[in-house]
Amino acid sequence: MMGRTHFVTGLALGSFISWPAAFAAGIAALLPDIDSCQSTIGRLVRPVSYVIQKTVGHRNLFHSVWILIVIHFFCTFLPHDILLGVLIGYLSHILLDILNPAGVRVFWPIPINLALPLVRTGSLIEYLVILPTGILILIGNLGI
Ligand SMILES: [Zn+2]
Repeated sequence: MMGRTHFVTGLALGSFISWPAAFAAGIAALLPDIDSCQSTIGRLVRPVSYVIQKTVGHRNLFHSVWILIVIHFFCTFLPHDILLGVLIGYLSHILLDILNPAGVRVFWPIPINLALPLVRTGSLIEYLVILPTGILILIGNLGI
């Protein structure tokens, strides 16, 4: 999925909790792709992203459930709604990537690749279904 799709989906899901949680979820939804130099977040921190991509690869460690546990452990100081937003945003990224034919190694390094190949990155389904759905949820939760 594209970075904007992950961001909007995170925002939309977090908006069910609170607006601060929505922004936390939107940002957190971009974080797993720090393992790719070509991603939105990867381009912002290219040297870090490059090292991660070369050492653990894309859609492995940073797309695994283990990172969610680590985030939860190290972010317990955050207000509850923000922490929940971060976890939901991060998880939404992993779940959306599972819809991609490349799939995700959710239990990395265990070589189980979860893929439900329904949506290619940048496809019409992403542009016409997933992204608009996130925007509509956001509009709905804004109360407009
Ligand atoms: Zn990803």
